[in-house]
Amino acid sequence: MEIFKTTQAIFDFVNQQKSLHKTVGFVPTMGALHAGHLQLVNESVRSSDITIVSIFVNPTQFTNSSDLEKYPRTIEADIKLLSSSQCDAVFLPSVEEMYHQNEAEWNYEIGEIADTLEGEFRKGHFKGVTQIVYKLFKAVPANFAFFGKKDYQQLMVIKKLVIDFNIPIKVVGCEIVRENDGLALSSRNVHLSITERNKALILYKALLMIKTNWDFDFANQLINEARKMILKENLVIDYLEIRNADNLKPIDGTETQSIVLVAAYVGKTRLIDNMMLD
Ligand code: AMP
Repeated sequence: MEIFKTTQAIFDFVNQQKSLHKTVGFVPTMGALHAGHLQLVNESVRSSDITIVSIFVNPTQFTNSSDLEKYPRTIEADIKLLSSSQCDAVFLPSVEEMYHQNEAEWNYEIGEIADTLEGEFRKGHFKGVTQIVYKLFKAVPANFAFFGKKDYQQLMVIKKLVIDFNIPIKVVGCEIVRENDGLALSSRNVHLSITERNKALILYKALLMIKTNWDFDFANQLINEARKMILKENLVIDYLEIRNADNLKPIDGTETQSIVLVAAYVGKTRLIDNMMLD
């Protein structure tokens, strides 16, 4: 497995592989890798000849400086994990490599899809996400890029980004990987104490309760019930919403697929999760 630290080096590597008629899959991550990330790697390995993983904790997408500071960084373990997967190359840029002084402001107007849910509670988050993913897609002109549905809204935003900028990369969404008891894997789970870990499980249980009983006519009751379950465990809810899965607009009964999305704090740790309902 090769490790590249500059955009030029990874760009040359991708183009060299393409000139050999190899297809390239790309998995952008912020590291602290877990089975959710590895699933994306496996999807890439399955569908592409060459798999590249990037690890970069992107400062511009953090809306809170202490969240950025305490974001888990386990680079040695990550590299070990990737070397025992079928990943071919890792892109490990520094902040200075991805951002230069006095660079132009990133003013991409993503549109409505980014204004709601995460966009409402983490103002500027998707601006930072689209800025770095645009830069990563320039440096790694892969055929496919793999993103998790765990960050469902992010996946939709990235799909819009590649359309808006005519980026010839096919964005592939991969299913959420959960612990055996249902908790969605997240790099931030390492911050949870044992008690918090147990409380966090209510997010999965509440989403599952809505899915099991899903009926558009009872949407409000289901949300109220789920909200009660979550509050009983003393989580602080940012949002708990059922939305049209195609555009994240509020449901009106005409949508072909609905999705329930949640963001909540367990102590100081903010977790997100979602579940398709139809
Ligand atoms: P992150 O390192 O948290 O920025 O995540 C990198 C990629 O892994 C994103 O596309 C996430 O959606 C995806 N991911 C993170 N956790 C999971 C999970 N539990 N299941 C599936 N994909 C995930």
